[in-house]
Amino acid sequence: MNLIVEKQLKGSICQPNNNWDMSIQKELSALKTPDYLIGPRVDILQGDISREWFKWIVDQFVDSRFFEEDINFFKIYESVKESVDILVGGQKDSDDKLSIARLVSEMVEERIKFLISDSKRRKSISKNMKEDLLAIYGPEPRCWLTGVKFTDEAIYNFTAKQEDKVNFDLPVYIDKYRPIGTKSRDLSIEVDHLHPFSLGGVDEIDNYRLICGWANKVKSNHITGYSTGTKVTGRNQLFPNSFYYWVIRTLGLKRKCEVPGCGNSIENSELTVCSNLGSSKAITPVSMKVVCKKHDSRAGRYVKRSELQDPFHV
Ligand SMILES: [Zn+2]
Repeated sequence: MNLIVEKQLKGSICQPNNNWDMSIQKELSALKTPDYLIGPRVDILQGDISREWFKWIVDQFVDSRFFEEDINFFKIYESVKESVDILVGGQKDSDDKLSIARLVSEMVEERIKFLISDSKRRKSISKNMKEDLLAIYGPEPRCWLTGVKFTDEAIYNFTAKQEDKVNFDLPVYIDKYRPIGTKSRDLSIEVDHLHPFSLGGVDEIDNYRLICGWANKVKSNHITGYSTGTKVTGRNQLFPNSFYYWVIRTLGLKRKCEVPGCGNSIENSELTVCSNLGSSKAITPVSMKVVCKKHDSRAGRYVKRSELQDPFHV
């Protein structure tokens, strides 16, 4: 087992030139990193690899240049079946290939329908719909991904006309690992599409979540920790932009404080992250631990807003 660890370390980070060595790459692809070294985040890391690969598997059949308005399921199925034959060849019997082709075709049809009708579909969310959402969330609505409790001003602004909206007081200190409050937008209530609109998510109340402006701009249209998204740009003095997405991905999937015995969850607490290995360690996707406000290690994590540059510019 230590041989695997040694090979992985040397093949990956210890000798960066190996990044461009195909034989090392082949060797790495055949090794599985031991779960005990990844730690508690193995579920998110592994699950997201699978999610990302399957997105590519479906996307490889979709090329918008070849769409026709009258495209139908049979045509898609025929075309996907041909490609599955090429991909799978003799590795599976024909029943398996047909069932793979049918499942993939259903996904492809969804993607194509969306791409054809993209411009016609997006609607703005009505005041009534916003009031319905607030009613669903109860008297103390919170961001569905960070647990941040929306202020009275944010709730008021959510349904107010543009000219009636009030200004927010921005906080003096901000948690640098989850910097909500560098801009007014961070504190506002927005409506998130659980399944991203740009990936075919529908404009219906079941697909809506109340989200703070910060989480919404960080989430953008990412769907896995490995995707870089297409909307987030700009410079960031602390971390690459993908870091903040990782924070949100971990918070949104865990949804509760991970300190043993603590019952706080995203329903009643703001959540943030620290290192699973102690407060002096780096926070990475592998080490991130979700904690409630009561259990965060405050030292050094709060910085003056004026010293924190907003990385997103949106
Ligand atoms: Zn806690």
